[in-house]
Amino acid sequence: MLWDPVSLGDRFPCCIPHCGRMVAKTVPEEKGWGEWICGVHWKMVRSTYRRVHARILRRGRQGLAVPLVRADRTWARVKRAAVKWAAGLS
Ligand SMILES: [Zn+2]
Repeated sequence: MLWDPVSLGDRFPCCIPHCGRMVAKTVPEEKGWGEWICGVHWKMVRSTYRRVHARILRRGRQGLAVPLVRADRTWARVKRAAVKWAAGLS
């Protein structure tokens, strides 16, 4: 599904298809997130993925270099897990 940035206004959608949950656009803008997963879907992601993701975020906050490729790959894994879970529900 393609999101129309105009109709969304100041909201930013969960990256899981058909989720429909939103967050204020200022949140991802402040944190520099390209995508966002809502709390419900985030909870469904396996804790191991969440831990790796948290470690990467922490390294970033400490000013340590995080290979972008690695951060991207981890995010892709997190997202894939959440999408799979969401698909399993329908
Ligand atoms: Zn969601």
